[in-house]
Amino acid sequence: MVNKGLLIVLSGFSGAGKGTVVKRMMELHNEYALSISATTRSPREGEVDGREYFFKSVDEFKQMIAKNELIEYAQYVSNYYGTPKAYVEKQLEEGRNVILEIEIQGALKIKEMFPDTVLMFIIPPTAKELENRLRGRGTEDDAAIKARLKRAVEESLGVESYDYIITNDEVDLCVERIHDIVTAEKCKASNNIEIINNIREELNIFSEGE
Ligand code: 5GP
Repeated sequence: MVNKGLLIVLSGFSGAGKGTVVKRMMELHNEYALSISATTRSPREGEVDGREYFFKSVDEFKQMIAKNELIEYAQYVSNYYGTPKAYVEKQLEEGRNVILEIEIQGALKIKEMFPDTVLMFIIPPTAKELENRLRGRGTEDDAAIKARLKRAVEESLGVESYDYIITNDEVDLCVERIHDIVTAEKCKASNNIEIINNIREELNIFSEGE
């Protein structure tokens, strides 16, 4: 029997470098799977449908909701984002740790539905660094950057609901911290009840023989 994977939510202010961290995680460890969200936001330059996101019209997105194809969805700034259900369920069943790179409203819904989910919040070393990264990315205009910074202020108020805060000062270090936490979480007694029960059953059999 394959042990079920762990569900991991990675949130963080826009520009905190989540995307880079997740990409590096996939390169270094093959027991992780990244859920690809559906969104009504337009693709940024270089983004490919089915790789960064499944890009949908508002009507298509609403249909996904109606057909119960999303585990959760939320509005962020002025677009919809949601997590497709089928992929996440399959990967967990196959024993992979599934990373959801989603914002706080979605994170809280997931934690409510699946209490074993580990919620991690990635922060930049400083606020100035965050602003620099957003501006340096050059993909949003000034109004959109301000809206994202404002949203970051709001999100900082919800951070206490998370299990871990991780500073992204250096990508590989950040990946290592996340992986260490996941390893520890997987060792938790509450995540290993079934294994202990199986061992106990076998021990009973052994101890009864002869
Ligand atoms: P971006 O437009 O920068 O790619 O993403 C904006 C925000 O939406 C980020 O905080 C990202 O984590 C979040 N997000 C991406 N996919 C999902 C999703 O499926 N559900 C929710 N709730 N948030 C998402």
